[in-house]
Amino acid sequence: MEKTTIKKLLGDYKKLIHHDITVQGWVRAFRSNRFIALNDGSTINNLQIVVNFEDFSEELIKNIHTASSLKITGELVESQGSGQSIEVLAKKIEILGDNFFEEMQTTILQPKKHSLEKLREQAHLRFRTNLFGSVFRIRHAVSFAIHQYFNQNEFFYLNTPVITGADAEGAGEMFGVTNFDLNNLPKNEEGEIDYEQDFFGRKTNLTVSGQLEGETAAMGLGRIYTFGPTFRAENSNTTRHLAEFWMVEPEVAFNDLEDNIDLAEDFLKYVIKYVLENCKDDLAFLDNRFAEEQKTKPEKDRAKEGLIEKLENVIEKRFKRVSYTEAIEILLNSKENKKGKFQFPIENWGTDLQSEHERYLVEKHFESPVVLFDYPKDIKAFYMRQNEDGKTVAAMDVLFPGIGEIIGGSQREERYELLKTRMQEMHVDEKELWWYLDTRKFGSVPHAGFGLGLERLVLFVTGMSNIRDVIPFPRTPKNAEF
Ligand code: ATP
Ligand code: MN
Repeated sequence: MEKTTIKKLLGDYKKLIHHDITVQGWVRAFRSNRFIALNDGSTINNLQIVVNFEDFSEELIKNIHTASSLKITGELVESQGSGQSIEVLAKKIEILGDNFFEEMQTTILQPKKHSLEKLREQAHLRFRTNLFGSVFRIRHAVSFAIHQYFNQNEFFYLNTPVITGADAEGAGEMFGVTNFDLNNLPKNEEGEIDYEQDFFGRKTNLTVSGQLEGETAAMGLGRIYTFGPTFRAENSNTTRHLAEFWMVEPEVAFNDLEDNIDLAEDFLKYVIKYVLENCKDDLAFLDNRFAEEQKTKPEKDRAKEGLIEKLENVIEKRFKRVSYTEAIEILLNSKENKKGKFQFPIENWGTDLQSEHERYLVEKHFESPVVLFDYPKDIKAFYMRQNEDGKTVAAMDVLFPGIGEIIGGSQREERYELLKTRMQEMHVDEKELWWYLDTRKFGSVPHAGFGLGLERLVLFVTGMSNIRDVIPFPRTPKNAEF
């Protein structure tokens, strides 16, 4: 007898009609002691099992509840009822494991509406819900599409270190890595902690970006991308920040800023299209949830488009490309700014944009994804390529509706003298990054790259609103349960 997933079965059942099949899964509902809705995680759709209770012991029937795990063998038939195409007439039912009925009543497995906060408190069980099943199947599809995109475009997947000695960009606080006994730290003659005695003989941290290492690889392999965990100890308890998240960082030799923007746009559209084509059932469910959620909001806060509609619009339109300088003009002249509606008013050229400004540009002014480029050099990292004007660098950020920044990138400074000077100006330790500077000495070439936060893209594609709900086990300030 063939074991099969429910997804496979629902997709291709014709040749199995009137055959016996075996399925395994969890009970989502057991109606009238007769109909079991069985789910195995392979799809959001359940398989209906028809139980003729005369064929089974009372004891067995009594022990089947919501959340029970079952192995069922029976005949596959076309369904008599409406609502499903096929069902299984159970011949053999085996309960696979314990199900503590009383305790189950207080968990999120109990079939009723639970708040997202409560689902988060039981993150180890939330995979069993329709919502999180859909979110994590889509997260998988997004990751798969990312690898597929780069593979098709001749990029090499490069693994950069998780433990690093360099503070890549001063991007937020870093988590230290040590095997010192924290209650007994060795001190040097100056009374400071003596990292020379630590495991690596130096101070080390969890990486905030694989970019600098990625650049060195691109200087030989040409086109690379990294895709790995990234850590930032920034204490920003927002719905868009995690302390541990997954970042995708392509780095391409011979690309300039415009090539970099083209790549980012093409890449995002490819991944979103992949999800639209391959995750139809999960998207339909999320689209519906999104619409329901909008109804609970005040009129003015409601999204103008449905989830699927939003995704379709993003892949059709060309992203708006706007320089930082133009964006500042728009913001300075906006009603919001003049009436003091921004929490951080825009006063002059040179200020960093906050999420509220980014979202104004995307959601109100352009009503389209926006790529901002050529930012003031003083608000950007040392490695970005300096423009002719002496004021700006060849940076670019991709801003998405509902999210704000989803990608941050730049053309890199490939000119040795300029990079070295910039490092000195910005107090970046040359001795620590000697190997990075070295790549500008031996056949340096123009190159560019960017970083995409995987979770921000999954947020966008699933229509979820809190980043904690699109990563299986979120790490945020004061929270590392599970
Ligand atoms: P933000 O301004 O939103 O904090 P950033 O400018 O610090 O982001 P970058 O250093 O440019 O971000 O990182 C590249 C991408 O990584 C961002 O565009 C975003 O998608 C993602 N990202 C950055 N920080 C976080 C975080 N704490 N949690 C989740 N994703 C993040
Ligand atoms: Mn950024």
